[in-house]
Amino acid sequence: MTNYQIDVQLSKNKKEKPAFDQLSFGTVFTDHMFILDYTEGKGWHDARIVPYQPITLDPAAIIFHYGQTVFEGLKAYVTKEDEIVLFRPDQNMKRLNRSNSRLCMPELDEDLAIAGLKKLISIDKEWVPNVAGTSLYIRPFVIATEPYLGVAPSKKYRFMIILSPVGAYYKEGINPVKIAVEQDYVRAVAGGTGNAKTAGNYAGALKAQEAADKEGYAQVLWLDGKEKKYIEEVGSMNVFFKINGEVVTPALNGSILEGITRKSVIELLNHWNIPVVEKKISMEDIFRAYNDGLLEEAFGTGTAAVISPIGELFWQGEKLVINNGETGALAKRIYDSLTGIQTGVAEDPFGWRM
Ligand code: PMP
Repeated sequence: MTNYQIDVQLSKNKKEKPAFDQLSFGTVFTDHMFILDYTEGKGWHDARIVPYQPITLDPAAIIFHYGQTVFEGLKAYVTKEDEIVLFRPDQNMKRLNRSNSRLCMPELDEDLAIAGLKKLISIDKEWVPNVAGTSLYIRPFVIATEPYLGVAPSKKYRFMIILSPVGAYYKEGINPVKIAVEQDYVRAVAGGTGNAKTAGNYAGALKAQEAADKEGYAQVLWLDGKEKKYIEEVGSMNVFFKINGEVVTPALNGSILEGITRKSVIELLNHWNIPVVEKKISMEDIFRAYNDGLLEEAFGTGTAAVISPIGELFWQGEKLVINNGETGALAKRIYDSLTGIQTGVAEDPFGWRM
């Protein structure tokens, strides 16, 4: 790997660390952050690590008006041997660049982004929590910073990485959730920005999430934006079903975000010789399988929960109770394998750990 020039300005006022057994999600940030700026004609420049602090932007900055921004989410774990491990960060940086490209933003040098991340974590290594189930959540993001009210790609950007120690997603073991199939709102449409990790997709999803919350559902299952017939994702996770021994997941179609956990689950199932198929799946297909007694399991996949079993699906007045509302054997096996690889307790035959 190239030796990149990354300037470091260390914090003089180290913050007090939170109790690692009482962490929640995304509220506490470490002592430092990584910054890299972009100027048209000059490219990316001035890679640096500075004390974590607010940033100053012109109120006319394009990010505030037209949402030209992309982000990523990944985690670091500390192993029993006190090594800090990243899970497939190369995949996140590749996806960040695909998102950049969709939003007319300049692509980053993925190796520089990873070098910056590694250096930042090594400086803030005492912030990687070591309590079972906890991790250091990593948020890389790019914002358009040019002050300009015209609707056009910015000529200036800032890439940043911030770090946040987070608590265990499952405090009492992996637990199934209830999901409502969303019939009114849609998350993404063919040709839109669904497969980019960009702010607008998430702001646009809040309304459906709010309504599901009121009804006692953890997340919504998103259907396609045209016919509201085909399954896309669940909340901010990809989704898998086990039907009569075969695992199926919606095929990537441009409106589904290409999850790194999704990719890893498919690779893991292939490795285990468990049949897994990526295809167009309608809610009617799932209902038919359910009625025929063939719907064995359903689960979401994503960085936050890793695997989130679905115990109940609410669709058009019907409550589909899956696997008696309990965590399925396959979901559990995948969860244990992935978290084992991530935390260094299991072998890593794929070379996913960095
Ligand atoms: N779909 C959406 C919309 C998401 O925001 C995420 C989280 N990044 C995922 C799926 C899962 O992706 P990953 O497995 O890379 O976390």
